Amino acid sequence: MTNCELCYSHKVRPLSLAKAVDEEILGHRNQRGEWAPRAPLEYPPIFVWPPKPRKLATWFRGYLFSWNLLYAVIALGIWLFLTPSLETAESFGTGWVLPILIRNAVIVVVFYSLLHIPLYVRRSQGETFKYKPGWPKIDSRLFLFRNQTRDNVFWTLCSGVPIWTAYECFMLWAFSNGHITSLTWDADAFWIILLMLLVPVWRDPHFFVTHRLLHSRALYRRFHKLHHSNTNPGPWSGLAMHPVEHVLYFSGVLIHFIVPASPVVLIYQLVHSGLAPAPGHLGYEKMLVPGLRDARQVNSEAFNHYLHHKYFECNYSDGVFPLDKWFGTFNDGSPEARAAMQERLARRGHT
Ligand SMILES: [Zn+2]
Ligand SMILES: [Zn+2]
Repeated sequence: MTNCELCYSHKVRPLSLAKAVDEEILGHRNQRGEWAPRAPLEYPPIFVWPPKPRKLATWFRGYLFSWNLLYAVIALGIWLFLTPSLETAESFGTGWVLPILIRNAVIVVVFYSLLHIPLYVRRSQGETFKYKPGWPKIDSRLFLFRNQTRDNVFWTLCSGVPIWTAYECFMLWAFSNGHITSLTWDADAFWIILLMLLVPVWRDPHFFVTHRLLHSRALYRRFHKLHHSNTNPGPWSGLAMHPVEHVLYFSGVLIHFIVPASPVVLIYQLVHSGLAPAPGHLGYEKMLVPGLRDARQVNSEAFNHYLHHKYFECNYSDGVFPLDKWFGTFNDGSPEARAAMQERLARRGHT
């Protein structure tokens, strides 16, 4: 018996490699053809009593050696080779701001395309492991240019990347001018590594709070509805947001006006925020990569947030803290959770 690779919470019989990627074994499709994993979603075994050290160790290994590691490596490369010196960033100028804008745009286009092209252009695995049948909308009034992909690319590159870049340049300028306490590798290596480890942890409550705010009556229609037009999301839907939502979304880095850091921590947080939405909106549970052993196929970890796009009023966060559980908005994908959500909405006067 091995740990379930979807939730680490229960033991499953080892599958033959040929069957390990069979969507019928790992999940099921309803009458509308929507696929869902069999195992309900679970939070990491952190806030549990009694403690479960072995389960926690398994989760922590997954936390380290996952998308987080990829973003950290990208951030390290950017910081070492594609970021101007702090002396250069002492005063604003197109000479260093423009290269950062172009660098971020290139990284986004390459990373998002690596997910989008095989799944949505070549359609290499068809709808296997796809949560919702169907492809990005064409000729729909919901989207700019009447085309979901073009709309999503537009908002990502014309709003998301510039606002990401604006935060990055502003924070580098603040580091350069001593408005943020800068840690150094010589004296503070332990703290820099710890802060890098905590970046996804911090992003979780920040995303929850700003996201809940965007679902308020005052803000939803004006600023967040645009993102929710993507009821059948793909990678490019991830950063397809209104500029006001981008300003809120990337604002987590402002914490470093309080918490000392190194520019590499700042860059990691921005890379994490800028790239994680692509797998987070993949639309598929797994991306089947030819040549990879079946058991090592790429997990998107997108089901939690897919349920948010499907039902709107649940799963506002998606990470380490069980925030939705604490605030009564968690939907683990089970029929019971859906019934509880509908009852909660009915109590609030939703039909
Ligand atoms: Zn989303
Ligand atoms: Zn939302």
